[in-house]
Amino acid sequence: MDTLIVTGGAGFIGSNFVRLALNETRRQVVVLDKLTYAGNLCSLDELARHSRFVFERADISDQSAMERVFSCYQPSALVNLAAETHVDRSIENPRPFIETNIVGTYVLLETTRKYLKTRSTRKQTRFRFLQVSTDEVYGTLGPAGRFSEATPYVPNSPYAASKASADHLMRAYFSTFGVPTLVTNCSNNYGPFQFPEKLIPLMILNAIEGMSLPIYGDGGNIRDWLYVEDHCRGIMAVLKKGKPGEKYNIGAGNERTNLQIVDGICRCLDKVLPPSENPAMQKQGLSSYKQLKTLVPDRPGHDRRYAIDASKIRKELAWKPRCDLETGLAKTVCWYIENRSWCKQVQEGKYKRERLGLDFEPH
Ligand code: NAD
Repeated sequence: MDTLIVTGGAGFIGSNFVRLALNETRRQVVVLDKLTYAGNLCSLDELARHSRFVFERADISDQSAMERVFSCYQPSALVNLAAETHVDRSIENPRPFIETNIVGTYVLLETTRKYLKTRSTRKQTRFRFLQVSTDEVYGTLGPAGRFSEATPYVPNSPYAASKASADHLMRAYFSTFGVPTLVTNCSNNYGPFQFPEKLIPLMILNAIEGMSLPIYGDGGNIRDWLYVEDHCRGIMAVLKKGKPGEKYNIGAGNERTNLQIVDGICRCLDKVLPPSENPAMQKQGLSSYKQLKTLVPDRPGHDRRYAIDASKIRKELAWKPRCDLETGLAKTVCWYIENRSWCKQVQEGKYKRERLGLDFEPH
């Protein structure tokens, strides 16, 4: 049986991708995850008994663990979704970002390079190493223009810089060693199983509990939003049909300011969980979730605008998003309302939805 290794498969995009891979391919799926605060096995609950699902707890920067996993499962492809992903945390402490996002990717590349030497020529040429990356590597945009695959890298946060480094390593291992690499650069994702430190789930959960909705700066920062399942289908398309050595932008053209996103969530919640029926809102005499919005100090180095030009993946691989933003937001709001036990379980560690990324010494 063909085996696909998915690193970071217990995270937000990873768990959605594993579900899609088990449903839509005949491959064995080996999830390899360190289970940091952001990785939770409860995101894979119903898959645990699937006959083609395997879980391995390991750190991608551990060379001998990676060699053991490769030699045990003899994969035909690897999708790397293991990463430290929260920009605010990268401002508090960049080190884990360097260790996982840069060193971890290097270790996976090096393990792949050695492993491929032991494979037949046919298996070597069919192997794929797909790195899931971000549009944040391109830096920030003014009011006009969009990122294309040819846009130069100008990362501004330690997170973006670590992802940019990994993308460069992918390119180098293709050019120098012929490892069949693919890179996808995607815009902001949203949907089920996203850890509640990120904008959309944080706002939904705070609102449900009648807590303030902290919006950075003037709320005018623009992101280009993509429903996570559409991203996963894009990764799958690149894995199946992408050309080794190439990179592909993935995005749906849904540019919105953070304020527009928060307003959208509040409108949705006003309908599905009317404040008059929510004791946390009643207690404060509030009639709309919008009344919880609060502007807070901006993130240092906060990129103003991201926008993705996804014409390459649309034209060459016939990928297109299926879910529009309004439908996706409504589905996401309902998912978080219906999955409070998941929310509780993943927050049982240290994180309590507090503000991060301001407590550092500027130079
Ligand atoms: P996430 O933080 O939800 O999940 C990351 C997963 O990686 C977790 O399960 C964690 O336990 C695991 N992990 C962390 N360090 C590890 C290590 N050293 N070894 C093994 N596993 C480790 O992240 P996500 O939002 O699902 O993002 C996945 C990937 O997609 C990342 O590379 C991210 O840069 C990229 N991406 C995310 C978005 C987004 O909007 N979420 C957008 C574009 C690209």
